[in-house]
Amino acid sequence: MAEGKAILYDASRCSACKGCQVACKCWNLLPSPMEKNTQEWNGSMQCPPDLNHRTRLIITFDEADNGKKYGINWAFGRRACMHCTDAACVMACPSGCLYHDEETGMVSFDRDKCIGCKYCAMACPFDVPRHIGGGGLFSGDAKINKCTGCIDRIKNGRAPACVTTCQPGALQFGDREDMLSIAKERVELLKAKGFESAQVYGEEQVGGTHVLHVLKYPLEQYELPENPQVSPLIGVMNWMKPILGVGAVALVGGLGISFLTGVGYKRHEMHYDEVNHDIIDVETGEVVRHIDKEAGER
Ligand code: SF4
Ligand code: SF4
Ligand code: SF4
Repeated sequence: MAEGKAILYDASRCSACKGCQVACKCWNLLPSPMEKNTQEWNGSMQCPPDLNHRTRLIITFDEADNGKKYGINWAFGRRACMHCTDAACVMACPSGCLYHDEETGMVSFDRDKCIGCKYCAMACPFDVPRHIGGGGLFSGDAKINKCTGCIDRIKNGRAPACVTTCQPGALQFGDREDMLSIAKERVELLKAKGFESAQVYGEEQVGGTHVLHVLKYPLEQYELPENPQVSPLIGVMNWMKPILGVGAVALVGGLGISFLTGVGYKRHEMHYDEVNHDIIDVETGEVVRHIDKEAGER
């Protein structure tokens, strides 16, 4: 079983205040766009709608219509790096930029070593790494950005910034073993209260993750993959690193790039149709939600 430290996110305690999102930006000096109306209105409280090159953490909102006039089935989730034990990003990285911290198991990076290949983004089964600057592959100044687990704080005896700010105690940090037993206890309580789908997420997935989730509702309400996988090709790239060095591994990665793109888990992009007030899945063209403004729904 994975050892070290873990962040525990208990979705059943989260009030979606987004204090953790703000704390992450403050501690890590990550700006937000300040101009008026820089963000298109999309009918969702999820803001920004996805991780981006300056946003390492977002609170997700499942806003399924439950049939009531103002009815929204609130299910809050957390999207950020899961700090996998079998970390596809670390295996795919040809430059040694991404690494596991030995003591905690958190997956951090040395930005100076990033060569902008973006293999980590394609390999990650949780669609996490983003890049600052640069366009396509190997575009010079593109540099990775993702949650580091606030390893700089942990090494100085502090909890991650997001955990420190959470008022309802939805976030905790400590030995992974302890976090897991707290999570399991909570799930038992939720089940006893009638939440039959309650579960711990991250105990076994990709070798065990160093971010554990307590989920109150079914998995699909949290946009988490049921069975995250590391591509076998990534395993080969990892194995070749000590033999071939950075350049050759990057080349092999390039040959497999289309394959990796197909394997990576990508969340669906949503578009808001201002005329019909529909939220549309860009990939399938399906209307996933209609906003009834006259009935007062926002
Ligand atoms: S700070 Fe805590 S309660 Fe607020 S959104 Fe983050 S996890 Fe949820
Ligand atoms: S969630 Fe993605 S970026 Fe984070 S450790 Fe796992 S593979 Fe790497
Ligand atoms: S651990 Fe640190 S970097 Fe990661 S989401 Fe929390 S505040 Fe942000």
